[in-house]
Amino acid sequence: MGKTIIVSNRLPVKIIREDDSFYYVPSEGGLATGLSSIYKQGDNLWVGWPGQNVKKDEEKQQIKSDLKRENMIPVFLSKKLIENFYEGFSNDTIWPIFHYFLQYANFDPNFFDAYVEANKVFCNAVIEVASEKDTIWIHDYQLLLLPQMVRKKLPDIGIGFFQHIPFPSYEVFRMMPWRKKILRGMLGADLVGFHTYDDMRHFLSSVSRLVGIPNSRGRIETGNRIIEVDSFPMGIDYNKYAIAAASPKTIDKEIKFRASLGKEKLIISIDRLDYSKGLPKRLKAFELFLNKYPEFEEQVSLIMIVVPSRDNVAQYKELKEEVDLLVGRINGKFGKLNWTPIHYFYRSFALESLSAFYRMAHVALVTPMRDGMNLVCKEFIASKLDKTGVLILSEMAGASKELSDAILINPNNTDQMVDAIFKALTMPEEEQVIHISIMQETLKRYNINHWVNMFMDRLSHVIEEQKSMATKKLDEQTSAVIKRQFSKSQNRMLFLDYDGTLVGFHPDPQMAKPDHTLINLLKKLTANEKNRIVIISGRDRETLDAWLGHMQLDIIAEHGVWLKERDGGWETITKLKSKWKDEFRPILDAYVNRTPGSFIEEKDHSLVWHFRKVETGLGELRSRELTSHLKYLSTGKNLQVLEGDMVVEVKNADVNKGRAAQKWIDSYEPDFTLALGDDWTDEDTFKAMPRDAITIKVGSTSSAAKFNVPAFKEVRGFLRDLTEE
Ligand code: UDP
Repeated sequence: MGKTIIVSNRLPVKIIREDDSFYYVPSEGGLATGLSSIYKQGDNLWVGWPGQNVKKDEEKQQIKSDLKRENMIPVFLSKKLIENFYEGFSNDTIWPIFHYFLQYANFDPNFFDAYVEANKVFCNAVIEVASEKDTIWIHDYQLLLLPQMVRKKLPDIGIGFFQHIPFPSYEVFRMMPWRKKILRGMLGADLVGFHTYDDMRHFLSSVSRLVGIPNSRGRIETGNRIIEVDSFPMGIDYNKYAIAAASPKTIDKEIKFRASLGKEKLIISIDRLDYSKGLPKRLKAFELFLNKYPEFEEQVSLIMIVVPSRDNVAQYKELKEEVDLLVGRINGKFGKLNWTPIHYFYRSFALESLSAFYRMAHVALVTPMRDGMNLVCKEFIASKLDKTGVLILSEMAGASKELSDAILINPNNTDQMVDAIFKALTMPEEEQVIHISIMQETLKRYNINHWVNMFMDRLSHVIEEQKSMATKKLDEQTSAVIKRQFSKSQNRMLFLDYDGTLVGFHPDPQMAKPDHTLINLLKKLTANEKNRIVIISGRDRETLDAWLGHMQLDIIAEHGVWLKERDGGWETITKLKSKWKDEFRPILDAYVNRTPGSFIEEKDHSLVWHFRKVETGLGELRSRELTSHLKYLSTGKNLQVLEGDMVVEVKNADVNKGRAAQKWIDSYEPDFTLALGDDWTDEDTFKAMPRDAITIKVGSTSSAAKFNVPAFKEVRGFLRDLTEE
């Protein structure tokens, strides 16, 4: 077992320079705490920028050796790189786009160049300490290119990637000039994680539509590797907040704060200064609330904490000015000598003070326009030891997916926010307790350690699976062993896929007829009475019958809908309903109308849209559109959408090649079984095979099969060898 390396833009430490020496203050963020269970163990490491612009080599050496003792490896970035990579591309391009603030996105090519360069610097730092046996966990949007860069240098290393901010819808993501490079960068990972299912869905659809790599059930199949994509909602260090809320220091603070305030109920709002947090809209809602419910004057105050952030950047400066202005306006309009509607702080607070605010607040108003997760709302819940209080939460925050017991609001709907504030302030205590209790249970269970374990467990599982999916090249030596086994056996069964396995692809599928060489080969194979040859194909039975029916072959057609034994007639395994086809046919027709050269093939239990003859580019584009369209329509209908070689097929999910092959194996109990196939419908066949079967994947190295060969020509050579007993 190798070591685990965490990589993130920032190291979990703050460097403080004092005269000629450095002090290191560990960061207290939840992520750092959660990941400490990993990077502090054994020779595990955390690689990241130490947050300081260090110029002198001897200082770099000093920091490097100091941090080595803490299992950290610093990555030094020049001032210019920080400007263009971090403040530039990360925060001025990716951040606004991924949070749906397109108007703020800056598409400066120099920023992207710096982003590539910085990712390379990180890559070199990783390579210096990593080996193929290690596992790497890369974090967040500053390092989207890193997975692929590391993969290139260390092809067999295990890589996990987690994105802490939202992944936008395809329609928004596609606006980025460097969208494909970014997706390819991320696809270097074995496991890609997001906070929510929606982020994951958006990522999958971008990959399918922009890079053209299909996916099914959260798995992206690149031909040589399978990449898993999933959601892992991040939790907080629950105990830290529960313990802080009970600590004497916090209670002391609360008493002091209370003494300076009146008896009014408090609403808390805590955010970094950022346009994604919806601060002006929140203030306007509070103003409207005071207008609409004047009886709450002197009865309620908003404590608004805004943590300074990037206020040297124009948009942030403007936002700060807007917030200042709004607070001033509201306080000026409603304030009284003995009552301040909004207590506004533009600074950060230590944990005890935050904890005291959480304890004192009756309501937490967490209304971001868009937020990857949002931790403040979770911390508020964890701090509510007496279980009273109400959370108002934006449905645009990732946390809303877990905290459905909050009052969920759309931050663009000011009236709804006003009503929510009223509801929260007047909610009976029993009701508050019910909601807070439920949310506390969730947050206790899905805490930060759980999140770390879930991700790491899944990552090791995926890496194991990658290994088991790695097929071996079918070399001469293995072929010879197989041939010996074959010769010794008496009751052999060979499952042979047709297209891509026995013949190559042709622009017109009806032209991919078996040639003389193939017919002769199949005749030779079937002539030996110890052999039973089963053609297992997705094609319709009429075509297969016309092409191969005259030989002593068993045939499985349409992925297993139609079955024929060599001496019998066609049978169908199950009586399946095909009424769904009436609904789907017009949709495929519409795609045919819009895509010259494409056509529909209708089989008994499936509809296939072919685009092999469509002009390059257009076919791929339409196929991606059609696939997502069909997947959307087939939800809950027991249908399966398959993306094959230049085809998109929708079929009854009860039918697959594996099930059909199983029937043959059960009936004939062969002492030698071989299966050959090239696409992912053949994976079902491979999986259904007995343990000692010989399974061979054509054209790819990642498969449930044991061996791989490059193309159909090698398949023919291999089969020919078997006939020469
Ligand atoms: N926070 C802090 N000091 C403060 C105010 C907030 O340490 O004065 C912390 C807060 O406890 C939370 C984090 O900052 O853990 C904000 O995280 P969140 O996910 O809500 O927003 P982000 O800033 O990551 O977008």
